Amino acid sequence: MRAAAVASGAVNFDCVFLTHLHSDHITDLNDLVTTRWVMSAAENPLKVIGPHGTQDLVARTLTMLEPDIAYRLAHHRTLTWPPRCEVTEIDVGDEPTVVTDGAVRVLAAATDHAPVRPSIGYRVEADGSSVVIAGDTIPCSGLDSLCAHADAYVQTVINTSMVKMIPAARLQDILDYHSSVQDAAVTAQRAGVAILVMTHPVPPPIPGTEQDWIDEAAAIYEGEIHLAEDLLTIEVPHAT
Ligand SMILES: [Zn+2]
Ligand SMILES: [Zn+2]
Repeated sequence: MRAAAVASGAVNFDCVFLTHLHSDHITDLNDLVTTRWVMSAAENPLKVIGPHGTQDLVARTLTMLEPDIAYRLAHHRTLTWPPRCEVTEIDVGDEPTVVTDGAVRVLAAATDHAPVRPSIGYRVEADGSSVVIAGDTIPCSGLDSLCAHADAYVQTVINTSMVKMIPAARLQDILDYHSSVQDAAVTAQRAGVAILVMTHPVPPPIPGTEQDWIDEAAAIYEGEIHLAEDLLTIEVPHAT
């Protein structure tokens, strides 16, 4: 939906990168597979890159979609092939490894979201700029190595003090496997990144309190800070 809102529809996706298989990070995958399939003029497999378990996830997703696939194949005369995905499961360690190379280079390293194992963070490099997509993780050496001197570091965050005020045990459980605002700020400062982007904020910021989140990070981290909202666009510094 967000890609469609910036006029980059599902057909324009060459590849999807998954950080981990938590439901809130994969729930839209089936919609992307379906929309991309029915909108493509020719057979056009979707590349999916992710941790161990991604192959099974994609296979089960396609199984779930079987009734829908049959309806559409029966209904659209020019649609004569089922959706296909080409899955690559990657092994990662603390040092970044190159996942894809070319005009856009993507590196991956292990993150720490235990008991979610494995989980992966990505560093995207293009035109001399670098952006780290950390996913859900606590601070760890794999994350540090991805973030080293990155132009932008995008981190999912929780607000520890706000979560602690909510009397729900299951919510307290999330504190030990996500980066807090302070954790993200510490990682950003240590790695010397130029821009920290906090995303996936839990609990959802109450309108008007966004600056509090930024101030909390700014007490630790000296660079530029954003609390992301849908469709936010950020200019990253250009090295060349
Ligand atoms: Zn998660
Ligand atoms: Zn999450």
